[in-house]
Amino acid sequence: MELTGVDVAAYERVSKDESGVERSPEEQHDGHIETCERFGWRLQTPTYREVGSASKYQRKARAAFDRLIADLKAGRFTARVLLLYASNRGSRQMEEWLELINLCTKRDVVFWVEQYDRILDPRKPRDRKQLIDDASKAELDVAEMSQNIRRTTKASARKGLPHGRIPFGYRRIYDERTRKLLRQEPDPVEAPIVREMYDRVLAGHTLKAIARDLNARGLKRRGGGDWVPQNIALMLLREVYTGVRVHDPNRKSAYQPMTPEAKVTEGVWEPLVAKATFLGVKRILRDPGRRTNGRPGAVVHLLSGIAACGKCGELLRVNLKQKKYWRYVCITNGCVSIDKTELEDYAHERVQQYLEKLSEHLLVDEAIDGELDDVTAQLADARAERDETAALVRERRQAGKRTGTLATMVADLEDRIEELEQREQKLRTPSRLAGLITPGPTVRSEYPGIGFDAQRALARIVLTPTPVGTLGLGQLQVLQIGPGRRREPIQVRDRTRFFRPDS
Ligand SMILES: [Zn+2]
Repeated sequence: MELTGVDVAAYERVSKDESGVERSPEEQHDGHIETCERFGWRLQTPTYREVGSASKYQRKARAAFDRLIADLKAGRFTARVLLLYASNRGSRQMEEWLELINLCTKRDVVFWVEQYDRILDPRKPRDRKQLIDDASKAELDVAEMSQNIRRTTKASARKGLPHGRIPFGYRRIYDERTRKLLRQEPDPVEAPIVREMYDRVLAGHTLKAIARDLNARGLKRRGGGDWVPQNIALMLLREVYTGVRVHDPNRKSAYQPMTPEAKVTEGVWEPLVAKATFLGVKRILRDPGRRTNGRPGAVVHLLSGIAACGKCGELLRVNLKQKKYWRYVCITNGCVSIDKTELEDYAHERVQQYLEKLSEHLLVDEAIDGELDDVTAQLADARAERDETAALVRERRQAGKRTGTLATMVADLEDRIEELEQREQKLRTPSRLAGLITPGPTVRSEYPGIGFDAQRALARIVLTPTPVGTLGLGQLQVLQIGPGRRREPIQVRDRTRFFRPDS
């Protein structure tokens, strides 16, 4: 074969083979290494590898694919052969796939398709047709599958059938033989807990007190975790407990009101609470001024315990003594004092501004937990490899030996680590914002309706002293102003700063 001894690169992602068996990127990698040994190819590192499906119906970042395309465009892609497990693996989106084929044609790169055990040269008309046909078939399969799922979901919504995860408080009974769903009914253990939660909120108990009590009684959540006020609130706001089925694909969480597209149908299951109870609890949970810590009369303010004094670092509280002029103050030392409304307006604005700019990639995805585990594992591997290689480089340097290739490897690994760290950060972000707000362009329309608790939770996430490069703006600190009279009042922006540990 004329291609003996050339450099090759591999693109790897989860893939199913003909028999429907899933091949992990690692398994594919082993296959690629064998192929390279067979033909004497040099496999370049790092590999273009990612996890998750290639279909356009998943909103995941395809970092490795984007990098592959960018490298081809910029002429950084120096391999002669691109190894793929199956020819629909590049991407299931036709446009992306065609772009890849055309770039490879232009750059004189041929495909090795493991599934066919042969080279496909996109400059040869028959091979090109094969590559395009495979992708077109894959796109069709995915589109059909996705349509079927949507159709089934819609149909079951119309009939009021239960859908998705089983809500806490219910269980589902299936036919023993056919495994067909017979009914969803109150779970004898969980249902009383749900009813108790509603009753207690109506009776004026705080979510914190309820959570504490349930945890103390050993009544765990489904997954075995402890209750926290936020998941109780999210749960109690779900219409499912009144026996209705809500089909509202655009609503991100129960904190938000239903969208105009929402379809509500009578469910086929028994309600756990009366509609009036549900509405009463909803009113309480969405009330911005509600008491949230056991002390009667105590009101929690947006930034108390979150914003800090820029001089002594103490967390600010609202001075309750002068009700007419509520101010955030540093109580122990009295270094700073600022008008409550002014500071809060400023914080609302900056939080929204910040969340608006978080990228699309932060959208929540069900597969994200698995992906996060995977990225974390890859990161650990890459770091270990980097450390070992770097140690080797130092050793050789001290011995006066050449380190060229090894040093390049270290640099490559550094790049990979940086890329993985960014992905890890992106994956971690949504789990903290989930149920609160959708980061991105809809922030400003969503924010006013999410309720005080969610706004305070966001302030807590965005306005805390997290290190540079992680989620958040930094801690909102109020600075001291010098003595003397001023003609113009000082703007909040000019007497605050966002503090981050290494900035
Ligand atoms: Zn202070």
